[in-house]
Amino acid sequence: MAGKCHVILIGPQGSGKGTQAARVAPRLRLVHVATGELFRQLMTRDDELAREVRRYYDRGELVPDELTLRVLVDHLERVEREHPGARGALLDGYPRNRAQAEALDRVLGERSDAIAAVVHLVVPRAVLIERLSGRLVCSTCGATYHVHFNPPLVEGRCDRCGAALVQRSDDTPEAIARRLDTYEQQTAPLLDYYRQRGLVVDIDGNQPIDAVTSAILAALEPVLAEPHRCPSS
Ligand code: ADP
Ligand code: ADP
Ligand code: ZN
Repeated sequence: MAGKCHVILIGPQGSGKGTQAARVAPRLRLVHVATGELFRQLMTRDDELAREVRRYYDRGELVPDELTLRVLVDHLERVEREHPGARGALLDGYPRNRAQAEALDRVLGERSDAIAAVVHLVVPRAVLIERLSGRLVCSTCGATYHVHFNPPLVEGRCDRCGAALVQRSDDTPEAIARRLDTYEQQTAPLLDYYRQRGLVVDIDGNQPIDAVTSAILAALEPVLAEPHRCPSS
């Protein structure tokens, strides 16, 4: 994506990154890129790479940085081929630690791409656990639902593609707790890294889904229109 302009979504598990990314990306001419979703697709294969990823994924641990970066870069190249008119990517779930943030800066620098903004979704921990324990995802397209807060039109079926909805293998109480701890220790500190560069926009994620969408759009639309943030758009 040479000369492209990307947005990063940061927030704890359950803060609504996937839900919001699917809604705002098309409105902002961004392509939603979720590393967790890339891994879920990859794990449907029956090969050594799929088994390697599953060893970390099911325990709620981070997949090693080098492997994650390779999967991400391959996918960004594919996005560039398939969506040449896009402004850039809306990154959901990457970066998650300092090494990944630095690797991303390096990769984007090589392409003369920019990070236009980092959207931080703020939600209290008790709410996160309630959301994650009722989360359902589409087995085919990755769309996200909630049994109470965002139910599908037909029970057990995806509104977008009709495929079966499932609970994720890592939405167990143990794996949820481990992922939230990893977020606090490794991912939340990245906010300082990006705040120093003036990139972070804090959004109250503890509101109804539509209200959060409106808040993100209201924050990003002017930022993406600034020529010094997004040279090519
Ligand atoms: P959550 O945000 O609920 O953890 P994701 O779908 O973003 O869910 O990620 C699911 C799993 O995929 C993670 O627990 C981890 O094993 C793997 N994963 C996703 N993104 C990354 C990343 N940037 N680095 C390492 N592992 C990742
Ligand atoms: P993340 O990608 O940050 O882990 P998700 O988008 O998967 O979060 O959302 C986690 C769960 O919470 C899903 O079941 C989703 O339907 C639900 N959810 C998302 N946003 C809200 C909201 N604003 N209010 C209530 N539930 C929500
Ligand atoms: Zn679907």
